[in-house]
Amino acid sequence: MDAHAGKHFPRPTPVSRPYWEGCREGRLLLQLCTGCNRHQFYPRILCSHCGASTLAWAQASGHGTVQSYTVVRRPVSPGYAADTPYVIALIALAEGPVMMSNVVGCAPEDVSVGMPVEVLFETWSGEITVPKFRPVTAGA
Ligand SMILES: [Zn+2]
Repeated sequence: MDAHAGKHFPRPTPVSRPYWEGCREGRLLLQLCTGCNRHQFYPRILCSHCGASTLAWAQASGHGTVQSYTVVRRPVSPGYAADTPYVIALIALAEGPVMMSNVVGCAPEDVSVGMPVEVLFETWSGEITVPKFRPVTAGA
């Protein structure tokens, strides 16, 4: 069975479509306001800092730190059962915005607040590729 069947698939909108296209290409894109030079996530029509509509897309470094997290042991629906236990985390990106994602590539017990992480991409379908984060290992 498809490993992602039964999951909640994101639905790209006209505003978020470039973000999802970036993920498909293995690039984490954030909106960058050319008015105040700050990044934002999630994608919006206006800058959440200054209200300008002059938003461009910029590739993020893909690096961040775990700001907060929780371990999910009981699946919210059958589609997530095979993934439990898994980590849902707020990732503070190096560029400033905070995004919710999963920390993978290590045991849930090894996740900690402040842990450096980097993005990787998980393909769910022809259209949807989802950014996740893994620990930055020493020397990498
Ligand atoms: Zn702005």
